[in-house]
Amino acid sequence: MNYRSYAGGMPLGKDYTGQYCSLARALEVVGERWTLLILRDAFFGVRRFGDFAAHLGVPRAVLSDRLGSLTAAGVLTGAPGRHGHTEYVLTSKGLELWPVIRTLLDWGDEHYSAAGPRRVFRHGADDAPVTTGGVCTGCGQDVPVTDLVVAPGPGLAETGATDPVTTALATPHRMLAPLHA
Ligand SMILES: [Zn+2]
Repeated sequence: MNYRSYAGGMPLGKDYTGQYCSLARALEVVGERWTLLILRDAFFGVRRFGDFAAHLGVPRAVLSDRLGSLTAAGVLTGAPGRHGHTEYVLTSKGLELWPVIRTLLDWGDEHYSAAGPRRVFRHGADDAPVTTGGVCTGCGQDVPVTDLVVAPGPGLAETGATDPVTTALATPHRMLAPLHA
């Protein structure tokens, strides 16, 4: 391993040169601070810069940089939306990251959310819970992310936030369905 990237508190960057492990290559794309949170929000249906910014509280310059990197990496596409905003949407390459994000979410709930999961994931077809591995506990199907509904869980604390993302996710919401019609 090469730990130079941690020297002086530098963020993970493009400095895995010489690392041929595929994990290092993957971290070049998703290993920077905020990136996985941006992708999580994209799975929730967030598409607009302003919505990412309002929900995450990420500095706008950082958000701009991350959206640019993810678009350059082919994880997101950015295209003009109907209302003149650029809309960032997950590509098929980006959609493949869902199991990674789901696993990290559940790991975080397990170890850092004593009150239980902050959000739960259900099969849209029968409303049964879907396991970390993506299997419906009702019908036994492997459920693609497009057929998942995210709903508030017992560990979801009331934050008082009124941004459009928090508001949309206060009730069950189909994954990837845009927050704005
Ligand atoms: Zn099912």
